[in-house]
Amino acid sequence: MKIAILSGKGGTGKTTVTSNFAINIKNSISLDSDVEEPNLHIFMDMKNSTSEPVYTYFPSIDKNLCTLCGKCGDFCNYSAIIPAKNKVIVFKESCHDCGGCKLVCPNGAISYDKREVGKIFKGKTKYNTDLSYGALNIGEMSGVKIINQLKRSFNSDERTTFIDSPPGTSCATVEAVEGVDYAIIVSEPTPFGVSDMKMVVEMLREMRIPFGLIINKAGLGDDEIYHYSKIEKIEILGEIPFDKKIAELYANGENFSESIPEYQNFFKNIYKNIIEGRGSL
Ligand code: SF4
Ligand code: SF4
Repeated sequence: MKIAILSGKGGTGKTTVTSNFAINIKNSISLDSDVEEPNLHIFMDMKNSTSEPVYTYFPSIDKNLCTLCGKCGDFCNYSAIIPAKNKVIVFKESCHDCGGCKLVCPNGAISYDKREVGKIFKGKTKYNTDLSYGALNIGEMSGVKIINQLKRSFNSDERTTFIDSPPGTSCATVEAVEGVDYAIIVSEPTPFGVSDMKMVVEMLREMRIPFGLIINKAGLGDDEIYHYSKIEKIEILGEIPFDKKIAELYANGENFSESIPEYQNFFKNIYKNIIEGRGSL
């Protein structure tokens, strides 16, 4: 079973929820697909990781074959290839590696070169679980390729996989949640938290992924999140209170369910309810 953990914005506690699930569900795999700012491996204390590069491809033009017909430029939706007066200019950072320009070139003038956009790191955590995370190279714009490769790096149907997803509803988030069996939204009970969460709810409904909500820092804001969840028939899976001790443990990079044992059952029970088929669409 694949479970994505996501939020409307960063800093809601998505990663700490992921790590606390991962350490309490035996034999699970955890993936950090928040490739712009991966930090699950810090909470899970990953050791001895190995890395592999992730490549993307961009067009390379054979000047001897190119007639400057302009078809590649007309086709590209990203303005990544522009036939100019004397040559075709390629903006490799803007290329989405769709392969279309090669298909439309009437003269076979386009081939592809590769470049590295990031890396995938794989290893064991101090909890003896498997963890893998992606990291986008500085200056790169899209982590979609890395997330795609990351999800394939531990593709096990027998083991539960927790996917810490990028915040928001970007292409990277869609890639992270594509194909999961269930999603958990983590949100704070504040007006901003609710507002950002609404977009995630829309995205998951569009993708027909069942989901539930964990309210983090419960007691901090107002009641709007409860009203919204009731109206939208969103199941509240659990609430983590706004608590000084939890905040201190988080600040020290510790998983709070280790130090506060009653939370071990909190995460185990939510997981049990999910696999028993609860959740909203
Ligand atoms: S489609 Fe091919 S021939 Fe036409 S401008 Fe592009 S590279 Fe040149
Ligand atoms: S591969 Fe696709 S995105 Fe890249 S330049 Fe060609 S048409 Fe544009």
